[in-house]
Amino acid sequence: MLFLVFVLLLLAIVFFWQSGRQRRAAGLPGGRVIYTDTHAWGVVEKPLFSSELGLTGKPDYLVEQNGRLIPVEVKTGRVPDAPYDSHIFQLAAYCLLVEKTYGKRPPYGIIHYPNRDFAVDYTPQLESALLDQLAEMRRDENRTNVPRSHDEAARCRRCGFKKVCDQSLV
Ligand code: SF4
Repeated sequence: MLFLVFVLLLLAIVFFWQSGRQRRAAGLPGGRVIYTDTHAWGVVEKPLFSSELGLTGKPDYLVEQNGRLIPVEVKTGRVPDAPYDSHIFQLAAYCLLVEKTYGKRPPYGIIHYPNRDFAVDYTPQLESALLDQLAEMRRDENRTNVPRSHDEAARCRRCGFKKVCDQSLV
C-alpha cells in the first residue's frame, strides 16, 4: 500500500514538473467548455486500481451516460481559461483506470472548476503521453537525485517537500 501511495505522490510531482513539456510534445487536448448536470454525478466509493500499471486513484465522481462511464475531477481555486496540463494528466489517469477497472473506455473526462466545466477528450495521443509519463516515473523511482526542473520560488513555497528538499528555492 505504501508503494501505491508513493506512486501517486510521484505521479503528482512528475505531472506538475513535466506537464508543460509533455503537452507541447504530445499536443494534449485543451478541453472544451460544457454544461453538466451535477445531480447525475455519482460519488466513487472506492479507489480504482490497476495492478498491471501499479496505479490507483479515485476520481471525485463517475457519470453514466448511455452505458459509458465518464470520470469527473473537481478542482477548486482560480478558474483557468483552459484546463491546466497537470489536471489533464490526472484526468487521463482516471480515464485509464476506468477502462482497466470496468472494461469500458471513456471517450472523455470532465474537469469541474468552480464555475466552468471542461470536457477533455481521452484520445490515443493523450493515453500515450500518460503512459510515457508513467514509464519515466518508474525510471525515476530508482534515482536518488532528481534535479529541480524549474526556477520558480513560488512553486517551492507551495510545495509540501520544501523542508526536506535540498534544491528548494525558499
Ligand atoms: S521544494 Fe521546490 S525544488 Fe524541491 S521538490 Fe518542492 S517544488 Fe521541487
